[in-house]
Amino acid sequence: MEDKAFSISLAKNPVISVNVIPGHFTTNNAHSNNYLDVSGLKSNTAVARDVARELAIPYLSSTLVDTIVCMEKMEVIGAYLAQELAQDGTSVMNSGDVIYVVSPINNTYGNLVFPDSAIKWISGKNILLLIATVSSGRALNCGIECINYYGGKLAGISALYLASNVKQEDKIHPLFTSEDIPGYKLYNTGECELCKAGVKLDALISSEGYTELNR
Ligand SMILES: [Zn+2]
Repeated sequence: MEDKAFSISLAKNPVISVNVIPGHFTTNNAHSNNYLDVSGLKSNTAVARDVARELAIPYLSSTLVDTIVCMEKMEVIGAYLAQELAQDGTSVMNSGDVIYVVSPINNTYGNLVFPDSAIKWISGKNILLLIATVSSGRALNCGIECINYYGGKLAGISALYLASNVKQEDKIHPLFTSEDIPGYKLYNTGECELCKAGVKLDALISSEGYTELNR
């Protein structure tokens, strides 16, 4: 599957590039013909710094941020983003501030919660929510609900990847969207053209990555 992969880069900063793997993929509620692999951006510290610089732009001069909440293993980028947002500069809103980076956890009932020790950085604070991919919006909504539950004020949402079919109730600032992927198609389960053509599923997509089904 990966031998068919190709890469796309961010036009204004080609250092930031991601692999696109063509195939027949399923999430828990949709099928698609491409998978965008953002794992490199999350793990490569040299690139993560550039990513953070790009993600900071919409907030730098205008948005007060106390805490960055990271979902889907975005902590490395989150730390660099905190550094970017708090950089020196007269027009920098959070210049010199301490910005906390925290991640919610799944409790034994599968609910997203913050440990008691982190609640002081959420309750009444301005929160920037940082998530890897927004495909169905389901994980993102869980994150927003969790922040609301603890009394956090959502100041912004940033993602590495946003599928263009997602309804945005709150504005999402993505690095890449499905429109950056040539020929990208997303289907509701049951309406998938690949399924109709009898093409077998290649892999299951989750927030952790993909798992091949036909090994
Ligand atoms: Zn399908």
